[in-house]
Order: sequence, then C-alpha cells, then structure tokens
Amino acid sequence: MMENHKAMKQWLEDFNLQHPLVIAGPCSAETEEQVLKTAHELKNSDVSIYRAGIWKPRTRPGGFEGVGAIGLKWLQKAKAETGLLMAIEVANAAHVNLALEHDIDVLWIGARTTVNPFAVQEIADALANTDKIILVKNPVNPDLALWIGGVERLYNAGIKKLGVIHRGFSTYEKTKYRNIPEWQIAIELQSRFPDLPLICDPSHISGRRDMIQEISQQALDLNYDGLIIETHIDPDNAWSDAKQQVTPSVLKQILEDLRIRQLTTEEGSFNTDMIKLRASIDIDDSKLLEILGHRMKIAQQIGALKKANNVAVLQNKRWNEILEKMIREGEQKGLTEEFILRIFKAIHEESIGHQVKIINS
Ligand code: PEP
Ligand code: MN
Repeated sequence: MMENHKAMKQWLEDFNLQHPLVIAGPCSAETEEQVLKTAHELKNSDVSIYRAGIWKPRTRPGGFEGVGAIGLKWLQKAKAETGLLMAIEVANAAHVNLALEHDIDVLWIGARTTVNPFAVQEIADALANTDKIILVKNPVNPDLALWIGGVERLYNAGIKKLGVIHRGFSTYEKTKYRNIPEWQIAIELQSRFPDLPLICDPSHISGRRDMIQEISQQALDLNYDGLIIETHIDPDNAWSDAKQQVTPSVLKQILEDLRIRQLTTEEGSFNTDMIKLRASIDIDDSKLLEILGHRMKIAQQIGALKKANNVAVLQNKRWNEILEKMIREGEQKGLTEEFILRIFKAIHEESIGHQVKIINS
C-alpha cells in the first residue's frame, strides 16, 4: 500500500522554485522548427519542463497521430539548446524504451492510458526503479481509485519521483469545459497524499485558451504544486488541440498575472482552510448556475412540445406535486420549507417565462 510520505515531494523541492512548477510546450511535436522555436521562446521564463506529444492518442482514427520517434531527436536538440527538461506522454513499453534511449527527463501517462491497468503495469515494468519523474494523469472517467491505482503500480515498481496531473473528466453532456474538473476528486487525492505533487492541466480541462487563466488561478488557490499548459508558436494552426493552446508570450502573461499564495506554516491552517472552503463554494455556485441553465433549456423543449400539441403552459397539478416532493426531499437535507418554496417559486416563474416565449414564438 502506498502511503503519504514527505519524500514524495523531494523531487519538486529539488527544483528550488519560488513559484509553482510550470510545464509548457505544444500539444504535439509537429516539425523540428516548431519544437525548437517554441522551446527557445520558453527559455528564460518560469517554465522548467518542456512538453510535446510524440504519439497522440486520438479519439477517432484519421486525426494527427503524432510524428513518432523522429520527434525525440528534436527534443534532444531542444534540451541541448535551451537547458529545459523534456517531457513526453508514454502509452506502452516501446514508448518508454524509446524515451529512455533519447534521454527524456519526465514521462507522463495520458488519461486514456490510466484507465487501463494492463497498460499502466506494462509501463511500470518497463520503468522499474527509474529515477525519471513520472506523472500520472487522471483517468478520463471520474474514478479516484483507478487514478491512485495507476500511481501505486509505479510506486510498487520502485519509482520514487511521482506526481499526478489533474486534466478533468469526460461527460456525455456538453458543459462549458472540455473535461469537467470535478475539483473534489483532486482535492480528495490531495488530502490523502498531501506530499504527492499535484499539477493542474487547465488546457485539457477547458479546451479553450480564454479559460486557462481562471482555471490556473483556481488550482493555485487550491494549493496545487504546478501547471501544465499547452503552448505553441502558432496556436491557430496547431495540428492538434488548436483552440486551447496559447503563444509563449500569452503564457508568460498568464504566469505573471497569477496570484501565488505563500503558504507558510506560521500562518496556521486558517488561510488554506478558508481558501479551500471558498473554492468549494465557488464550485457549487457555478454548478448551480449550470444546472439552472440546463433546466431552462428543458423547459424550452417542453414549451415547444406543448406548442406543437396546443396544450396550456401552466399545469397546476404537476407543479403542486413537484413542490411537495421538493419540500420533503429538502427537509431531509436540512433545508427549510420556506426556503424551498421561495427558491422553487423563482425557478418556476423563470421556467414559465421561457415556455411562454417559445409558445408565442
Ligand atoms: C495531452 O496532454 O496532449 C493529452 C493527450 O492529454 P490527455 O491524456 O489529458 O488527454
Ligand atoms: Mn493536447
């Protein structure tokens, strides 16, 4: 069984940074020129590790699947020219062996690989006792045990420099995120393994470059240790994940604008506890808004259905049933009848408004 230990953080402390660890670089290595140019622009910044996907797991065939092993040579060159450490994704033992042959410093296991214990075990066996830094992305499905299980397989293979990357989770429903963060899952992992470095991937959580700043800030407010941000010299023309990549200069601005919280032990736990609690409230509030927005969309569909069938908007019997049910359920959650009545009256009014608009359109 893997247990938290102070030494888990040692590799991160060895970087001796006054700011969170930053990993940046393109989603994919595309050409030698793109790899080198981007790396040079990230040199002399807060970036310590340069990322570039060499083999790309694509949801459907036909997309750009990565340049393959040739890209490893470009990364070696980028490392020699800039001094940045190099990071790539590995999905099987062959990738691991090529990465080790090419002196890659940091290897991460992608979200689609973490879901598969056979694949993770194969990677762990190929890496046994390595002193490379190995980062495990969360699995695409919101399963904390599976995520921890992936880390444990590496830990059991004698790997000491471990960390996790939170990149959000798939949903069938469309949300404002490409992958919803479900922050509470990462927070739970953090409270079970407070010394296991935790890195946020706002690029894959958001899927949109205009959300990178706010998600990064939220991660830092939740005491994350670092960020991995996709960065490309020409994001709009990137061969993969074009919408979420930023230029090196935008990245630098994002990093400059981040409020970094100093968490000294003298402060006690009050401030960190407050930050965590407030962040949880913020998460709940945005969830509430998202659910309310979704509910109104359903109301509009009901409006359209009623219109097509020439049925009246207000169905009093149905409404009274809903209210009674909500009062009962609310009571069990410690909510007063008065509150339930007020809130559902407001929701109902808004909902009727949406339906009426559709019916009269
Ligand atoms: C990536 O980092 O480019 C990547 C494919 O990420 P994920 O495994 O999180 O989808
Ligand atoms: Mn990507």
